[in-house]
Amino acid sequence: MAISSASAGALLRHVRTGRARSRADLVALTGASRNTVSARVDQLIAANLLEEGGRGWSTGGRPPTILRFNSRAGCVLAVDLGATSVDVAVTDLSAQILATDGHRIDIAEGPVAVLAEADRLAQKVLAEAGLAPADVCAVGVGVPGPVEFSTGRPSHPPIMPGWHDYPIPSAFGRYGCPVYVDNDVNVMALGEMGIAGSMQDVLVVKVGTGIGCGVIVDGQVYRGAQGSAGDIGHIYVAQPDGRTVVCRCGNENCLEAIAGGGALLRDAVAAGMPVSTVREVVERAAHGDGQALELVRNAGRTIGTVLAALVNFFNPHRIVLTGGVAQAGVPLIAGIREAVYRRAMPLAARSLEITVSDAPDLSGRLGAALMAIEGFLAEDAVDQAVSR
Ligand SMILES: [Zn+2]
Repeated sequence: MAISSASAGALLRHVRTGRARSRADLVALTGASRNTVSARVDQLIAANLLEEGGRGWSTGGRPPTILRFNSRAGCVLAVDLGATSVDVAVTDLSAQILATDGHRIDIAEGPVAVLAEADRLAQKVLAEAGLAPADVCAVGVGVPGPVEFSTGRPSHPPIMPGWHDYPIPSAFGRYGCPVYVDNDVNVMALGEMGIAGSMQDVLVVKVGTGIGCGVIVDGQVYRGAQGSAGDIGHIYVAQPDGRTVVCRCGNENCLEAIAGGGALLRDAVAAGMPVSTVREVVERAAHGDGQALELVRNAGRTIGTVLAALVNFFNPHRIVLTGGVAQAGVPLIAGIREAVYRRAMPLAARSLEITVSDAPDLSGRLGAALMAIEGFLAEDAVDQAVSR
């Protein structure tokens, strides 16, 4: 393994992710001197971020003292805003949920009303967990639209009227800590990765009304130059029958205009099915209705042709499907697998896993918590905190 940085932040990361359990492990991992490692570990213990446990196994001589990450050194707030819901959780620094609450809300009520409600729920869950606003180290917020990550301001979000350029972090000023805001797909992708530090390459594809993709490279969200990486819903897809469909973005034959939830409902109604929501189409497919099954499977095939190209380009370990249409499960996955395995190159497809999320309702909150924790415990931020 390559020799890595031995900053306090880097040492903390090694312990948090389980790569090191003692000072000796840290010396071996970083190549730094025993004195340097000991001094920085002492700083981290003084900052309450590391604690000493019992003795580990000895390989001769005095057994080493076990180092543990103190995940109760503070807490973070996780805010998951959906088109029709607000969910807030408070978690410890390993993303264990301590208290959570949420309910239906219309995001179109605008930022002032919706964020005031999110803040009210935040104060409620903090009180429930026996924590004070001063314990909050960072806030993570997921929103259903594009966001400029560096400022936390939505950028022309199509389903969030009144939110364009609104400074979301200002709504959480009372906590006096960093506030990180990102689009829901990136946040869910982090949540799907579950624990920080997993070094996998994963695509998390949300198939709801629209279609979006969170790109995880080496365990971290890849946002691209302007933050719009993974916007796969508007990739052009040729139709076998030469049909053209105009997308809400104004272009023709975008993936989501052909295979998103809105398209499924449109095609189901056109086929004479007695349905008025995408959820009903998905439920019919899940119960084995032949017509609904065929529609969902076709949507899967179309999504699969785009994913096959992404697999050739990106060679992920895993593709995880989430969102309302993904709840159809087997028929959607079957369509996607069929297209991916037919079109992707064998080397890239050989050990690729394609699965549906186990916890689609939880991944938004978990991801928002992980985003906040990653920001608070970023190596630079830890280095600054312990040298104060
Ligand atoms: Zn489009």
